[in-house]
Amino acid sequence: MAGNGKLYGVLALQGDFEKHQLALERAGARQFEVRTVDALREVDALVIPGGESTTMLRLMDYYGMFEPMREFGLTRPVFGTCAGAILMARGVMSPAQKSLDLMDIDVERNAYGRQVDSRIVEIESKIGPLEAVFIRAPIIRRTGAEVEVLASYLGDAVLVRQGRHLAATFHPELTEDTSVHRAFIELVES
Ligand code: GLN
Repeated sequence: MAGNGKLYGVLALQGDFEKHQLALERAGARQFEVRTVDALREVDALVIPGGESTTMLRLMDYYGMFEPMREFGLTRPVFGTCAGAILMARGVMSPAQKSLDLMDIDVERNAYGRQVDSRIVEIESKIGPLEAVFIRAPIIRRTGAEVEVLASYLGDAVLVRQGRHLAATFHPELTEDTSVHRAFIELVES
């Protein structure tokens, strides 16, 4: 089974972490909720869920997890969706906030505007067709030279990879299809 050897942590401070836990299980991975620095030490890879990045950041600071998570990302794989992608970015706009700087991307929060706050669309990607659920999604405004764009929507990158890290501005944890989680598992296992 995929991902059998490794233990996947899901940051469980806020947001839709249970959905990621279920998606990882469906993809055949062993997973574990991460709420503390001690739990973070146990896992081989980390998933940062969707939710509210400002709230997650406050909780990360409160539990002393900001710096340990940044350090974790220097040597181990991290996969962020939506708010998780915002936390992984180098630069964050509208409004600006600090971030883990794990990927060479800049993001603008809530960038699709109020009229089209949330939507579900079919997109093509380098890992096959995907159903992409956007919920108050950020737009990736800049991708550095090391960043590989795996999928775009309306001309903007929505699924990106840099080395061992993966980030999506949409929510693959909310659809039945596990191909994005499987792509992360492949990165982790490779
Ligand atoms: N708008 C949220 C933020 O800025 C992200 C939304 C999401 O994760 N669905 O943190």
